[in-house]
Amino acid sequence: MIFTSPFPSIAEPPAQDLASFIFEHAEKHSAFGADPSLPALTDHAVTQSFNDVQRMASRFASGLINNLGLERGDMVAVLVPNSAYYPAIVLGVLMAGLVCATGNPASTVGEIRHLLGLCKANAVVATEPNLPTVMAAILESDIHIPRHRILTIDGQKNTVHECLSDKPFNRLLLTTAEQARNTPAVMLLSSGTTGLPKGVLLSHANIASNILQMVIMEAHDPHIAAAERKVLQQAHMACVPFFHSYGLVMVMLLSLAKSHHQIVMPKFDLEQFCILIEQHQVAVALIAPPTVVQLAESPIVDKYDLSSFVYIGCGGAPLTRKTQSRVQARLGCRIVQAYGMSELSLLSHRAKVHGAPEGTVGYLASSMECMILGDSGEQLGTNELGELCMRGPNVMMGYFMNAQATAQTIDHSGFIHTGDIGRVDDNGLYYIVDRKKELIKYKGFQVAPAELEGILLNHPAVLDAAVIRVLDHVQETELPKAFVVVKPGMDSVGITDNIKAWVAERVAHYKALRGGVEIVSSIPKSPSGKILRRVLRDMEETKNKRS
Ligand code: AMP
Repeated sequence: MIFTSPFPSIAEPPAQDLASFIFEHAEKHSAFGADPSLPALTDHAVTQSFNDVQRMASRFASGLINNLGLERGDMVAVLVPNSAYYPAIVLGVLMAGLVCATGNPASTVGEIRHLLGLCKANAVVATEPNLPTVMAAILESDIHIPRHRILTIDGQKNTVHECLSDKPFNRLLLTTAEQARNTPAVMLLSSGTTGLPKGVLLSHANIASNILQMVIMEAHDPHIAAAERKVLQQAHMACVPFFHSYGLVMVMLLSLAKSHHQIVMPKFDLEQFCILIEQHQVAVALIAPPTVVQLAESPIVDKYDLSSFVYIGCGGAPLTRKTQSRVQARLGCRIVQAYGMSELSLLSHRAKVHGAPEGTVGYLASSMECMILGDSGEQLGTNELGELCMRGPNVMMGYFMNAQATAQTIDHSGFIHTGDIGRVDDNGLYYIVDRKKELIKYKGFQVAPAELEGILLNHPAVLDAAVIRVLDHVQETELPKAFVVVKPGMDSVGITDNIKAWVAERVAHYKALRGGVEIVSSIPKSPSGKILRRVLRDMEETKNKRS
Protein backbone atom coordinates (compact mmCIF):
# COMPACT_ATOMS: atom_id res chain seq x y z
CA MET A 1 0.00 0.00 0.00
CA ILE A 2 1.25 3.48 -0.80
CA PHE A 3 0.23 6.09 1.76
CA THR A 4 -0.36 9.68 0.68
CA SER A 5 -0.35 12.98 2.52
CA PRO A 6 -3.51 14.43 4.09
CA PHE A 7 -2.37 17.93 3.07
CA PRO A 8 -2.98 19.64 -0.29
CA SER A 9 -0.11 19.22 -2.73
CA ILE A 10 2.36 21.98 -3.40
CA ALA A 11 2.44 23.47 -6.88
CA GLU A 12 5.30 22.73 -9.30
CA PRO A 13 8.59 23.74 -7.69
CA PRO A 14 9.23 27.44 -8.26
CA ALA A 15 10.98 28.19 -11.56
CA GLN A 16 13.61 30.32 -9.87
CA ASP A 17 16.71 30.05 -7.74
CA LEU A 18 16.31 29.36 -4.03
CA ALA A 19 17.52 32.82 -2.95
CA SER A 20 14.97 34.64 -5.13
CA PHE A 21 12.29 32.22 -3.97
CA ILE A 22 13.01 32.92 -0.28
CA PHE A 23 13.01 36.71 -0.68
CA GLU A 24 9.88 36.72 -2.86
CA HIS A 25 8.05 34.39 -0.54
CA ALA A 26 8.83 36.62 2.43
CA GLU A 27 7.57 39.64 0.53
CA LYS A 28 4.34 38.07 -0.71
CA HIS A 29 3.24 35.65 1.95
CA SER A 30 4.31 36.78 5.39
CA ALA A 31 1.47 37.52 7.78
CA PHE A 32 2.34 41.23 8.00
CA GLY A 33 3.36 41.98 4.42
CA ALA A 34 7.09 41.72 5.17
CA ASP A 35 8.52 45.11 5.92
CA PRO A 36 12.12 44.60 4.74
CA SER A 37 13.45 46.97 7.38
CA LEU A 38 12.29 44.65 10.18
CA PRO A 39 14.90 42.54 11.96
CA ALA A 40 15.51 39.18 10.28
CA LEU A 41 18.25 37.89 12.57
CA THR A 42 19.77 38.96 15.85
CA ASP A 43 22.87 37.37 17.34
CA HIS A 44 25.01 38.42 20.33
CA ALA A 45 26.70 41.14 18.25
CA VAL A 46 24.47 42.39 15.49
CA THR A 47 20.95 42.59 14.05
CA GLN A 48 20.42 42.14 10.31
CA SER A 49 17.19 43.33 8.68
CA PHE A 50 15.71 41.51 5.68
CA ASN A 51 17.11 44.36 3.56
CA ASP A 52 20.56 43.83 5.09
CA VAL A 53 20.48 40.10 4.35
CA GLN A 54 19.39 40.65 0.76
CA ARG A 55 21.93 43.41 0.14
CA MET A 56 24.80 41.49 1.71
CA ALA A 57 23.88 38.28 -0.14
CA SER A 58 23.84 40.13 -3.44
CA ARG A 59 27.13 41.93 -2.77
CA PHE A 60 28.74 38.67 -1.63
CA ALA A 61 27.54 36.92 -4.80
CA SER A 62 29.12 39.71 -6.84
CA GLY A 63 32.36 39.41 -4.86
CA LEU A 64 32.53 35.66 -5.37
CA ILE A 65 32.28 36.10 -9.14
CA ASN A 66 34.09 39.41 -9.69
CA ASN A 67 36.76 39.32 -6.97
CA LEU A 68 37.40 35.61 -6.59
CA GLY A 69 36.76 34.61 -10.20
CA LEU A 70 34.51 31.70 -9.29
CA GLU A 71 32.36 30.18 -12.01
CA ARG A 72 28.88 28.72 -12.16
CA GLY A 73 28.69 25.30 -10.46
CA ASP A 74 31.84 25.86 -8.35
CA MET A 75 31.67 24.63 -4.75
CA VAL A 76 32.06 26.89 -1.74
CA ALA A 77 32.65 25.10 1.57
CA VAL A 78 31.15 27.04 4.48
CA LEU A 79 32.62 26.12 7.88
CA VAL A 80 31.30 28.79 10.22
CA PRO A 81 29.12 28.77 13.35
CA ASN A 82 25.59 30.18 13.50
CA SER A 83 25.53 33.95 13.21
CA ALA A 84 23.30 36.70 11.82
CA TYR A 85 25.54 36.70 8.71
CA TYR A 86 25.13 33.00 7.91
CA PRO A 87 22.07 33.34 5.59
CA ALA A 88 23.69 36.09 3.52
CA ILE A 89 26.69 33.81 2.91
CA VAL A 90 24.55 30.84 1.84
CA LEU A 91 22.15 32.92 -0.26
CA GLY A 92 25.04 34.86 -1.83
CA VAL A 93 26.64 31.58 -2.92
CA LEU A 94 23.32 30.46 -4.43
CA MET A 95 22.61 33.78 -6.19
CA ALA A 96 25.98 33.50 -7.89
CA GLY A 97 25.08 30.05 -9.23
CA LEU A 98 27.59 28.30 -6.98
CA VAL A 99 26.95 25.36 -4.65
CA CYS A 100 27.18 25.72 -0.89
CA ALA A 101 28.77 22.78 0.98
CA THR A 102 28.17 23.30 4.68
CA GLY A 103 30.28 21.68 7.39
CA ASN A 104 30.72 21.72 11.15
CA PRO A 105 33.07 24.60 12.08
CA ALA A 106 34.46 22.45 14.92
CA SER A 107 35.66 19.75 12.50
CA THR A 108 39.18 18.40 12.76
CA VAL A 109 41.81 18.51 9.99
CA GLY A 110 40.86 15.01 8.83
CA GLU A 111 37.15 15.79 8.73
CA ILE A 112 37.63 19.03 6.78
CA ARG A 113 39.98 17.24 4.37
CA HIS A 114 37.21 14.68 3.79
CA LEU A 115 34.60 17.41 3.14
CA LEU A 116 36.85 19.38 0.78
CA GLY A 117 37.74 16.22 -1.11
CA LEU A 118 34.10 15.14 -1.37
CA CYS A 119 32.87 18.44 -2.77
CA LYS A 120 36.08 19.38 -4.64
CA ALA A 121 35.85 22.81 -3.05
CA ASN A 122 36.88 25.86 -5.07
CA ALA A 123 36.62 28.28 -2.14
CA VAL A 124 36.17 28.15 1.63
CA VAL A 125 34.53 30.40 4.19
CA ALA A 126 36.07 29.84 7.64
CA THR A 127 36.42 31.75 10.91
CA GLU A 128 39.58 33.14 12.46
CA PRO A 129 39.68 30.41 15.14
CA ASN A 130 39.30 27.49 12.70
CA LEU A 131 41.43 29.00 9.91
CA PRO A 132 44.63 27.10 10.92
CA THR A 133 42.67 23.81 10.87
CA VAL A 134 41.18 24.63 7.48
CA MET A 135 44.62 25.60 6.09
CA ALA A 136 46.16 22.38 7.41
CA ALA A 137 43.34 20.37 5.81
CA ILE A 138 43.87 22.08 2.46
CA LEU A 139 47.62 21.41 2.63
CA GLU A 140 46.99 17.74 3.37
CA SER A 141 44.38 17.34 0.64
CA ASP A 142 44.92 17.09 -3.09
CA ILE A 143 42.59 20.05 -3.62
CA HIS A 144 44.23 23.32 -4.58
CA ILE A 145 42.45 26.39 -3.22
CA PRO A 146 44.34 29.65 -3.77
CA ARG A 147 44.80 31.78 -0.64
CA HIS A 148 42.53 34.59 -1.86
CA ARG A 149 39.65 32.10 -2.04
CA ILE A 150 39.94 31.24 1.65
CA LEU A 151 37.72 33.76 3.41
CA THR A 152 37.09 34.40 7.09
CA ILE A 153 33.89 35.82 8.50
CA ASP A 154 34.77 37.28 11.88
CA GLY A 155 37.51 39.01 13.81
CA GLN A 156 40.00 41.48 12.43
CA LYS A 157 40.71 39.77 9.14
CA ASN A 158 37.09 39.62 8.03
CA THR A 159 37.75 38.88 4.40
CA VAL A 160 34.09 38.04 3.69
CA HIS A 161 33.35 41.70 4.25
CA GLU A 162 36.31 42.65 2.08
CA CYS A 163 34.88 40.36 -0.59
CA LEU A 164 31.56 42.23 -0.80
CA SER A 165 31.32 44.00 -4.13
CA ASP A 166 28.87 46.40 -5.75
CA LYS A 167 29.89 45.47 -9.28
CA PRO A 168 27.00 44.03 -11.29
CA PHE A 169 27.18 40.32 -11.89
CA ASN A 170 25.51 37.69 -13.94
CA ARG A 171 22.89 36.35 -11.55
CA LEU A 172 21.89 32.72 -11.67
CA LEU A 173 18.80 32.66 -13.81
CA LEU A 174 16.57 29.65 -13.54
CA THR A 175 13.50 30.08 -15.69
CA THR A 176 11.91 26.65 -15.65
CA ALA A 177 10.98 24.21 -12.91
CA GLU A 178 13.09 21.63 -14.74
CA GLN A 179 16.18 23.85 -14.38
CA ALA A 180 15.44 24.40 -10.68
CA ARG A 181 15.19 20.62 -10.25
CA ASN A 182 18.47 19.98 -12.05
CA THR A 183 20.61 22.73 -10.58
CA PRO A 184 22.42 21.83 -7.34
CA ALA A 185 22.22 24.38 -4.53
CA VAL A 186 23.56 22.77 -1.38
CA MET A 187 25.73 19.82 -0.39
CA LEU A 188 25.29 18.43 3.13
CA LEU A 189 27.15 15.61 4.83
CA SER A 190 25.34 12.42 5.73
CA SER A 191 26.47 8.83 6.01
CA GLY A 192 23.07 7.58 4.81
CA THR A 193 22.34 3.96 5.58
CA THR A 194 25.94 2.76 5.57
CA GLY A 195 29.60 3.77 5.25
CA LEU A 196 31.42 7.08 5.43
CA PRO A 197 29.83 10.56 5.28
CA LYS A 198 28.76 11.33 1.72
CA GLY A 199 27.71 14.55 -0.01
CA VAL A 200 23.92 14.89 -0.11
CA LEU A 201 23.24 17.03 -3.16
CA LEU A 202 20.06 19.12 -2.94
CA SER A 203 18.73 21.17 -5.84
CA HIS A 204 17.19 24.64 -5.67
CA ALA A 205 13.79 22.96 -6.26
CA ASN A 206 14.37 20.31 -3.55
CA ILE A 207 14.79 22.92 -0.82
CA ALA A 208 12.17 25.36 -2.12
CA SER A 209 9.69 22.44 -2.30
CA ASN A 210 10.47 21.38 1.26
CA ILE A 211 9.91 24.96 2.45
CA LEU A 212 6.55 25.06 0.63
CA GLN A 213 5.64 21.69 2.16
CA MET A 214 6.38 23.05 5.64
CA VAL A 215 4.47 26.28 4.93
CA ILE A 216 1.37 24.30 3.88
CA MET A 217 1.56 22.04 6.93
CA GLU A 218 1.85 25.03 9.26
CA ALA A 219 -1.02 26.81 7.51
CA HIS A 220 -3.20 23.73 8.16
CA ASP A 221 -2.42 23.76 11.86
CA PRO A 222 -5.06 26.07 13.38
CA HIS A 223 -2.98 26.74 16.51
CA ILE A 224 0.07 27.92 14.52
CA ALA A 225 -1.98 29.89 12.01
CA ALA A 226 -3.93 31.69 14.77
CA ALA A 227 -0.77 32.54 16.73
CA GLU A 228 0.91 33.94 13.60
CA ARG A 229 -2.08 36.18 12.91
CA LYS A 230 -1.97 37.60 16.42
CA VAL A 231 1.46 39.28 16.37
CA LEU A 232 3.20 41.48 13.83
CA GLN A 233 6.35 39.36 13.74
CA GLN A 234 7.12 36.21 15.70
CA ALA A 235 10.55 35.63 17.20
CA HIS A 236 11.95 32.13 16.59
CA MET A 237 14.98 30.61 18.28
CA ALA A 238 17.79 29.60 15.93
CA CYS A 239 19.91 27.41 18.19
CA VAL A 240 20.40 24.23 16.15
CA PRO A 241 23.42 24.35 13.81
CA PHE A 242 22.84 26.00 10.44
CA PHE A 243 25.33 23.63 8.80
CA HIS A 244 22.86 20.75 9.32
CA SER A 245 19.66 20.44 7.28
CA TYR A 246 17.54 20.96 10.43
CA GLY A 247 19.07 24.37 11.14
CA LEU A 248 19.57 25.31 7.50
CA VAL A 249 16.19 24.48 6.00
CA MET A 250 13.66 24.24 8.82
CA VAL A 251 15.03 27.08 10.92
CA MET A 252 17.11 29.52 8.87
CA LEU A 253 15.47 29.39 5.43
CA LEU A 254 11.89 28.70 6.56
CA SER A 255 12.07 31.56 9.07
CA LEU A 256 13.38 33.91 6.38
CA ALA A 257 10.65 32.81 3.96
CA LYS A 258 8.01 33.45 6.63
CA SER A 259 9.65 36.69 7.84
CA HIS A 260 10.14 35.57 11.42
CA HIS A 261 12.78 37.26 13.56
CA GLN A 262 15.50 34.69 14.28
CA ILE A 263 17.34 34.86 17.59
CA VAL A 264 20.61 33.20 16.73
CA MET A 265 22.79 31.25 19.16
CA PRO A 266 26.28 30.22 17.96
CA LYS A 267 26.45 27.52 20.62
CA PHE A 268 23.74 26.06 22.84
CA ASP A 269 23.67 27.00 26.51
CA LEU A 270 20.45 26.43 28.52
CA GLU A 271 20.64 29.55 30.66
CA GLN A 272 21.39 31.79 27.67
CA PHE A 273 18.57 30.07 25.78
CA CYS A 274 16.09 30.86 28.59
CA ILE A 275 17.31 34.47 28.87
CA LEU A 276 16.81 35.01 25.14
CA ILE A 277 13.34 33.42 25.19
CA GLU A 278 12.27 35.82 27.92
CA GLN A 279 13.99 38.85 26.42
CA HIS A 280 12.60 38.42 22.89
CA GLN A 281 9.28 36.79 23.81
CA VAL A 282 10.19 33.88 21.59
CA ALA A 283 7.21 32.03 20.07
CA VAL A 284 8.91 28.93 18.67
CA ALA A 285 12.10 27.01 19.38
CA LEU A 286 13.09 24.05 17.24
CA ILE A 287 15.41 21.80 19.21
CA ALA A 288 16.71 18.23 19.51
CA PRO A 289 15.74 15.69 22.24
CA PRO A 290 18.67 16.33 24.65
CA THR A 291 17.57 19.97 24.95
CA VAL A 292 14.02 18.80 25.69
CA VAL A 293 15.54 16.64 28.46
CA GLN A 294 17.27 19.72 29.88
CA LEU A 295 13.97 21.61 29.78
CA ALA A 296 12.40 18.73 31.72
CA GLU A 297 15.13 18.49 34.37
CA SER A 298 17.06 21.68 34.91
CA PRO A 299 16.28 24.07 37.80
CA ILE A 300 17.46 26.91 35.52
CA VAL A 301 14.13 26.72 33.69
CA ASP A 302 12.23 27.90 36.79
CA LYS A 303 14.18 31.17 36.91
CA TYR A 304 12.75 32.48 33.63
CA ASP A 305 9.38 33.29 32.12
CA LEU A 306 9.00 31.00 29.12
CA SER A 307 5.27 31.59 28.70
CA SER A 308 5.71 33.23 25.27
CA PHE A 309 6.10 29.81 23.61
CA VAL A 310 3.41 28.96 21.07
CA TYR A 311 5.01 25.52 20.78
CA ILE A 312 8.40 23.81 20.91
CA GLY A 313 9.39 21.69 17.92
CA CYS A 314 11.60 18.64 18.40
CA GLY A 315 13.30 16.50 15.78
CA GLY A 316 16.56 15.01 14.62
CA ALA A 317 16.52 11.99 16.95
CA PRO A 318 14.07 9.93 19.02
CA LEU A 319 12.31 11.55 21.98
CA THR A 320 10.69 9.51 24.74
CA ARG A 321 7.00 10.01 25.55
CA LYS A 322 7.89 10.46 29.22
CA THR A 323 10.11 13.48 28.54
CA GLN A 324 7.63 14.93 26.06
CA SER A 325 4.82 14.79 28.68
CA ARG A 326 7.04 16.14 31.45
CA VAL A 327 8.05 19.25 29.51
CA GLN A 328 4.49 19.81 28.34
CA ALA A 329 3.30 19.69 31.95
CA ARG A 330 6.18 21.82 33.25
CA LEU A 331 6.03 24.59 30.65
CA GLY A 332 2.35 24.38 29.74
CA CYS A 333 3.36 24.27 26.09
CA ARG A 334 3.11 21.50 23.50
CA ILE A 335 6.13 19.67 22.14
CA VAL A 336 5.56 19.05 18.45
CA GLN A 337 7.65 16.26 16.95
CA ALA A 338 8.93 16.25 13.41
CA TYR A 339 10.91 13.67 11.49
CA GLY A 340 13.15 13.95 8.47
CA MET A 341 16.64 13.46 7.16
CA SER A 342 19.22 15.39 5.16
CA GLU A 343 18.46 13.26 2.09
CA LEU A 344 14.86 14.60 2.22
CA SER A 345 16.12 18.22 2.23
CA LEU A 346 14.87 17.85 5.75
CA LEU A 347 11.27 17.29 6.70
CA SER A 348 8.89 14.50 5.73
CA HIS A 349 6.63 14.38 8.79
CA ARG A 350 5.37 16.73 11.46
CA ALA A 351 2.65 16.62 14.09
CA LYS A 352 0.03 19.28 14.74
CA VAL A 353 0.29 21.29 17.94
CA HIS A 354 -2.98 19.94 19.37
CA GLY A 355 -4.51 16.52 19.10
CA ALA A 356 -1.31 14.57 18.43
CA PRO A 357 -0.71 11.71 20.84
CA GLU A 358 2.71 11.68 22.51
CA GLY A 359 5.36 9.81 20.58
CA THR A 360 4.05 10.47 17.09
CA VAL A 361 6.20 12.30 14.52
CA GLY A 362 2.95 13.36 12.85
CA TYR A 363 1.56 13.34 9.34
CA LEU A 364 3.26 12.77 6.00
CA ALA A 365 4.22 16.06 4.33
CA SER A 366 2.26 17.37 1.36
CA SER A 367 3.22 15.99 -2.07
CA MET A 368 4.88 12.98 -0.48
CA GLU A 369 4.11 9.29 -0.77
CA CYS A 370 5.25 6.67 1.70
CA MET A 371 5.63 2.89 1.55
CA ILE A 372 6.39 0.79 4.61
CA LEU A 373 8.38 -2.24 3.57
CA GLY A 374 8.70 -5.56 5.40
CA ASP A 375 11.87 -7.67 5.63
CA SER A 376 11.32 -9.28 2.23
CA GLY A 377 10.52 -5.98 0.55
CA GLU A 378 6.72 -6.47 0.69
CA GLN A 379 4.49 -3.42 1.12
CA LEU A 380 2.85 -3.33 4.55
CA GLY A 381 -0.42 -1.77 5.69
CA THR A 382 -1.40 0.42 8.62
CA ASN A 383 -0.13 -0.55 12.09
CA GLU A 384 2.55 -2.85 10.63
CA LEU A 385 6.21 -2.20 11.39
CA GLY A 386 8.64 -1.81 8.51
CA GLU A 387 11.15 0.46 6.78
CA LEU A 388 9.85 3.89 5.78
CA CYS A 389 10.44 4.64 2.09
CA MET A 390 9.36 7.94 0.61
CA ARG A 391 8.99 9.80 -2.64
CA GLY A 392 8.43 13.49 -3.24
CA PRO A 393 9.88 16.72 -4.65
CA ASN A 394 12.18 17.13 -1.64
CA VAL A 395 14.10 13.86 -2.18
CA MET A 396 17.75 14.69 -2.89
CA MET A 397 19.28 14.69 -6.37
CA GLY A 398 21.66 11.99 -5.09
CA TYR A 399 24.99 11.57 -3.32
CA PHE A 400 27.52 13.80 -5.07
CA MET A 401 29.67 11.80 -7.49
CA ASN A 402 28.58 8.54 -5.87
CA ALA A 403 26.15 6.80 -8.19
CA GLN A 404 26.54 3.52 -6.36
CA ALA A 405 25.46 4.87 -2.96
CA THR A 406 22.63 6.80 -4.66
CA ALA A 407 21.35 3.64 -6.36
CA GLN A 408 21.49 1.77 -3.04
CA THR A 409 19.34 4.46 -1.41
CA ILE A 410 16.85 5.63 -4.06
CA ASP A 411 15.07 2.82 -5.92
CA HIS A 412 13.95 2.75 -9.56
CA SER A 413 10.57 4.28 -8.69
CA GLY A 414 12.18 7.24 -6.93
CA PHE A 415 11.47 6.05 -3.36
CA ILE A 416 14.24 6.77 -0.87
CA HIS A 417 14.83 3.96 1.63
CA THR A 418 15.34 5.72 4.95
CA GLY A 419 16.75 2.88 7.08
CA ASP A 420 14.25 3.89 9.78
CA ILE A 421 11.66 1.47 11.11
CA GLY A 422 8.19 2.78 11.83
CA ARG A 423 4.47 2.42 11.38
CA VAL A 424 1.43 4.51 10.49
CA ASP A 425 -1.81 4.25 12.45
CA ASP A 426 -5.38 4.42 11.15
CA ASN A 427 -5.42 8.21 11.57
CA GLY A 428 -2.37 8.75 9.36
CA LEU A 429 -0.03 9.42 12.28
CA TYR A 430 3.48 7.97 12.01
CA TYR A 431 5.71 6.55 14.73
CA ILE A 432 9.46 5.89 14.40
CA VAL A 433 10.42 2.94 16.57
CA ASP A 434 13.88 1.80 15.52
CA ARG A 435 16.69 2.34 13.03
CA LYS A 436 18.04 -0.46 10.89
CA LYS A 437 20.83 1.63 9.38
CA GLU A 438 24.13 1.84 11.21
CA LEU A 439 23.99 5.61 11.81
CA ILE A 440 24.44 6.83 15.41
CA LYS A 441 22.79 10.07 16.51
CA TYR A 442 24.58 11.79 19.38
CA LYS A 443 22.31 14.66 20.48
CA GLY A 444 20.99 15.01 16.93
CA PHE A 445 24.49 15.00 15.38
CA GLN A 446 25.41 12.26 12.93
CA VAL A 447 28.16 9.83 13.89
CA ALA A 448 29.10 7.30 11.21
CA PRO A 449 30.45 4.02 12.70
CA ALA A 450 32.50 3.40 9.54
CA GLU A 451 34.38 6.66 10.08
CA LEU A 452 35.31 5.76 13.67
CA GLU A 453 36.22 2.20 12.67
CA GLY A 454 38.62 3.58 10.04
CA ILE A 455 40.31 5.70 12.70
CA LEU A 456 40.45 2.79 15.17
CA LEU A 457 42.07 0.50 12.59
CA ASN A 458 44.90 3.02 12.25
CA HIS A 459 45.70 2.75 15.96
CA PRO A 460 48.97 0.80 16.31
CA ALA A 461 47.51 -1.68 18.82
CA VAL A 462 44.18 -2.36 17.08
CA LEU A 463 43.72 -5.43 14.91
CA ASP A 464 39.97 -5.13 14.30
CA ALA A 465 37.16 -2.84 15.44
CA ALA A 466 33.43 -2.23 15.28
CA VAL A 467 31.35 0.69 16.53
CA ILE A 468 27.68 0.55 17.53
CA ARG A 469 25.23 2.81 19.32
CA VAL A 470 24.38 2.36 22.98
CA LEU A 471 21.72 4.33 24.80
CA ASP A 472 22.30 6.95 27.46
CA HIS A 473 18.92 6.93 29.22
CA VAL A 474 19.70 9.97 31.37
CA GLN A 475 20.57 12.34 28.55
CA GLU A 476 18.24 10.52 26.12
CA THR A 477 20.79 10.17 23.42
CA GLU A 478 22.79 7.52 21.61
CA LEU A 479 26.51 7.13 22.27
CA PRO A 480 29.13 5.50 20.04
CA LYS A 481 30.75 2.46 21.67
CA ALA A 482 33.75 0.61 20.20
CA PHE A 483 34.52 -3.11 20.35
CA VAL A 484 38.18 -3.65 19.69
CA VAL A 485 40.45 -6.64 19.07
CA VAL A 486 43.97 -5.86 20.28
CA LYS A 487 47.00 -7.10 18.30
CA PRO A 488 48.74 -10.09 19.89
CA GLY A 489 51.63 -9.17 22.17
CA MET A 490 50.45 -5.58 22.72
CA ASP A 491 50.48 -4.26 26.26
CA SER A 492 46.82 -3.92 27.28
CA VAL A 493 47.40 -1.73 30.37
CA GLY A 494 45.50 1.54 29.89
CA ILE A 495 44.74 0.57 26.31
CA THR A 496 41.04 1.49 26.37
CA ASP A 497 41.78 5.03 27.61
CA ASN A 498 44.54 5.33 25.05
CA ILE A 499 42.18 4.26 22.25
CA LYS A 500 39.49 6.69 23.41
CA ALA A 501 42.01 9.54 23.41
CA TRP A 502 43.32 8.50 19.98
CA VAL A 503 39.83 8.82 18.49
CA ALA A 504 39.00 12.04 20.39
CA GLU A 505 42.09 13.73 18.92
CA ARG A 506 40.95 12.97 15.39
CA VAL A 507 37.23 13.82 15.39
CA ALA A 508 34.88 16.64 16.35
CA HIS A 509 33.80 16.44 20.01
CA TYR A 510 30.39 14.86 19.36
CA LYS A 511 31.95 11.77 17.74
CA ALA A 512 34.05 10.84 20.81
CA LEU A 513 33.63 7.27 22.09
CA ARG A 514 31.38 8.31 24.99
CA GLY A 515 29.84 4.83 25.06
CA GLY A 516 33.25 3.36 25.96
CA VAL A 517 35.75 0.92 24.49
CA GLU A 518 35.49 -2.82 25.12
CA ILE A 519 38.21 -5.31 24.30
CA VAL A 520 36.88 -8.48 22.63
CA SER A 521 38.54 -11.53 21.10
CA SER A 522 36.84 -11.15 17.70
CA ILE A 523 34.33 -9.00 15.83
CA PRO A 524 31.25 -10.92 14.63
CA LYS A 525 31.13 -10.82 10.83
CA SER A 526 29.08 -12.31 8.00
CA PRO A 527 30.79 -14.70 5.56
CA SER A 528 31.31 -11.71 3.23
CA GLY A 529 33.14 -9.81 6.00
CA LYS A 530 30.32 -7.40 6.94
CA ILE A 531 30.26 -6.44 10.62
CA LEU A 532 27.22 -7.96 12.33
CA ARG A 533 26.26 -4.93 14.39
CA ARG A 534 22.96 -6.50 15.43
CA VAL A 535 24.91 -9.26 17.24
CA LEU A 536 26.95 -6.66 19.11
CA ARG A 537 23.83 -4.67 20.00
CA ASP A 538 22.10 -7.83 21.28
CA MET A 539 25.21 -8.68 23.35
CA GLU A 540 25.13 -5.21 24.83
CA GLU A 541 21.41 -5.40 25.63
CA THR A 542 21.78 -8.79 27.33
CA LYS A 543 24.66 -7.45 29.41
CA ASN A 544 22.60 -4.41 30.47
CA LYS A 545 19.62 -6.56 31.42
CA ARG A 546 21.87 -8.68 33.64
CA SER A 547 23.45 -5.72 35.44
P1 AMP B 1 20.00 13.66 9.56
O1 AMP B 1 20.19 13.38 8.13
O2 AMP B 1 21.24 14.02 10.28
O3 AMP B 1 18.89 14.64 9.78
O4 AMP B 1 19.53 12.29 10.25
C1 AMP B 1 18.33 11.68 9.89
C2 AMP B 1 18.02 10.55 10.83
O5 AMP B 1 17.78 11.04 12.16
C3 AMP B 1 16.76 9.82 10.45
O6 AMP B 1 16.96 8.90 9.40
C4 AMP B 1 16.40 9.17 11.77
O7 AMP B 1 17.15 8.00 11.98
C5 AMP B 1 16.80 10.22 12.79
N1 AMP B 1 15.63 11.06 13.15
C6 AMP B 1 15.34 12.28 12.71
N2 AMP B 1 14.21 12.75 13.28
C7 AMP B 1 13.78 11.78 14.12
C8 AMP B 1 12.65 11.66 15.00
N3 AMP B 1 11.77 12.63 15.18
N4 AMP B 1 12.52 10.49 15.69
C9 AMP B 1 13.41 9.49 15.54
N5 AMP B 1 14.50 9.56 14.74
C10 AMP B 1 14.68 10.69 14.03
